Amino acid sequence: MGRVIAVANQKGGVGKTTTAVNLAAALALDGRATLLIDLDPQASASTGVGSRGTAEGTVYDVLVDGRPVSDVIRPTAIDRLHVVAATRDLVGAEIELVSVAAREHRLHEGMAGVRGRYEFILIDCPPSLNLLTVNALRTADTVLIPLQCEYYALEGLTALLDTVGRVRDTLHPELALEGLVLTMYDGRNTLARQVQDEVRAHFGDQVFRTVIPRNVRLSESPSHGLPVLLYDPASRGASAYRALARELVGQLDRRTEVPHAEGIGQGP
Ligand code: ADP
Ligand code: MG
Repeated sequence: MGRVIAVANQKGGVGKTTTAVNLAAALALDGRATLLIDLDPQASASTGVGSRGTAEGTVYDVLVDGRPVSDVIRPTAIDRLHVVAATRDLVGAEIELVSVAAREHRLHEGMAGVRGRYEFILIDCPPSLNLLTVNALRTADTVLIPLQCEYYALEGLTALLDTVGRVRDTLHPELALEGLVLTMYDGRNTLARQVQDEVRAHFGDQVFRTVIPRNVRLSESPSHGLPVLLYDPASRGASAYRALARELVGQLDRRTEVPHAEGIGQGP
């Protein structure tokens, strides 16, 4: 069963979409079947993997019309990376869902038959703690939180963690934290170093060791409809997301490792 990871932070411009797109690309290029679900009406994850147009349907049809996710999956330039695109009309989904029963569960219900086909499913959330984000958290196994290395990095994190806690209490008890990722890091900047120290002091090993540097290739690649891993595979941005993918996979392998047989079954 694929691991579903919601990339969330209600602050805009912290690197959610860049992380969702490029982490998904890195996992896929490493041979892991990966699905990227765009849940932001700005649709930047969709354009980031070159997916435009609505002929096959979008995530809106899943949420509002109850279409299965499997109906609206599209290919990308990377073999093992598929995408469920978003469009502007997703803005209206929240209002249209008001009268729908179990509206927090729409995405989850649409996922039947999809999890088994992918090793990783990444959901790019909008910059808000609205019903779209709640649908993502209801569907996800874990939450990955990008934090921009700037003065207000931790601002709003309490509200996000409260929302995660509320979803866990009311809708989805198994929801866990995948970790925090520091993004747009500039090592020459004293403040960025202080932010990193503060976040690590506070959250310890819940923070990924891999730090995403500020890298202009990461901001250029979306306008070419390509993840940076295809646009400029040798860039620092591409290496950073490859390292993040390795760290994520390594972390999961360790968690699922079979314990040593030693000392087991020997009785008291
Ligand atoms: P969010 O999805 O949280 O709103 P984005 O991923 O869209 O954030 O990033 C906001 C802006 O910053 C975008 O223009 C993006 O290209 C740019 N950006 C993101 N990460 C980096 C980075 N590591 N280096 C340089 N630019 C980045
Ligand atoms: Mg975004």
